[in-house]
Amino acid sequence: SRKPIVGGNWKCNPAKLADAKALVEAWKEKGFDKEKVDVVIAPTALHLGHVKTPLEGLGMAVCAQNVGKNDMGAFTGEWTAAHLQDMEVGYTLIGHSERRSKYGETDEDTALKVEKCQEAGLKVIFCIGELLEERESGKTDEVNKRQLAAIIPKVKNWDLIVIAYEPVWAIGTGKVATPDQAEETQAAIRAYLKEAVSAEVADKVRIQYGGSVTPENCKELITKPNIDGFLVGGASLKPSFMEIVTAVQ
Ligand code: 13P
Repeated sequence: SRKPIVGGNWKCNPAKLADAKALVEAWKEKGFDKEKVDVVIAPTALHLGHVKTPLEGLGMAVCAQNVGKNDMGAFTGEWTAAHLQDMEVGYTLIGHSERRSKYGETDEDTALKVEKCQEAGLKVIFCIGELLEERESGKTDEVNKRQLAAIIPKVKNWDLIVIAYEPVWAIGTGKVATPDQAEETQAAIRAYLKEAVSAEVADKVRIQYGGSVTPENCKELITKPNIDGFLVGGASLKPSFMEIVTAVQ
């Protein structure tokens, strides 16, 4: 059975480092069992180094929100998987829908980034998901397969990969996927891994659901066999995020 994993993606929040530190401090009041759930927090790149030690003190890991597709060198504004490893940041997100839609990240870019992370031994939370019009036109599984197919040839070590299924229409909208919708789509993602990689990989890779997850709606979602945790945006900026963590453990 797969160990659940809950991520908190802070995106470009909070406003001040003091707010980030206060949030971590508030989380201290409610512990969790790290034997039963992995917790991974992705602060802004600027805040990350400042909250790493307190987060690790709570038994959480830190995660970058993005990583470069190139090596070190003349790439202003970028950092590499090797930099993250050197800074003891063990995870990065790749392919978040906001990177894809607002910064023009392509499937090919995500593949190059995953390749760099595999070389550096860095864990990746790889984000996939369909737009509303794609769901409405019955293309959900096709889109998820296309986004996954881009990285499959680059992955040698699937122990370093977590998949986050985040339907774009559910992100930041308060419109959570129903437990049945999420389960059906995530079962299809797992079936595709079985077909395109192997039964062993399909069985062990953890698939998170992301998109308007809250302490209230997470309880039913986590009962579904193909939902192995969550990638949480807005609700990870609150003290009550710990209720999501403890709901899955
Ligand atoms: P929300 O939880 O705010 O909908 O964001 C989800 C997300 O994009 C996490 O990466």
